[in-house]
Amino acid sequence: MNPCPCGYFTDPKHECHCSPFQIQNYLSKISGPLLDRIDIHLEVPRLKLEHLTDKRRGEPSDEIRRRVDKALERQKARYGNERVYFNAHLESKELEKFCVLDKESEELLKLAILELGISARAYDKILRVSRTIADLDGKDVIEAHHISEAISYRSLDRNLWG
Ligand SMILES: [Zn+2]
Repeated sequence: MNPCPCGYFTDPKHECHCSPFQIQNYLSKISGPLLDRIDIHLEVPRLKLEHLTDKRRGEPSDEIRRRVDKALERQKARYGNERVYFNAHLESKELEKFCVLDKESEELLKLAILELGISARAYDKILRVSRTIADLDGKDVIEAHHISEAISYRSLDRNLWG
């Protein structure tokens, strides 16, 4: 989706002429309950020309694949006797058992709930996504930076636009 009716709200090169009311109205067309069902909201800024022509290589795909395979193995080992295959399948009541937080990440999540007004459904998504981020990082316990990354993928939950 665009960030506003004209599409330039977050664009550093073009000026957006939408009013705050128009932007709010535009974004409110996607209802909260619908956004709650989407795991990851991510802002994707316009690519700069120098990025398109950049010859440097990013992380090779086969390395990424190895990391993903390892994360899947961790999930398989963890859910061996459950009817769960992937973190995404965890139900609310299972989150506490499988998404173990360290002290710092627990505090951060509490703060986020208070400050950002996160819905119960979005809270569950943050836990599931941070479980996956921790798996990709090879960690059994979810750490604060896993939680903060997962929260950063909920940009439309936050009052960024108002
Ligand atoms: Zn605009």
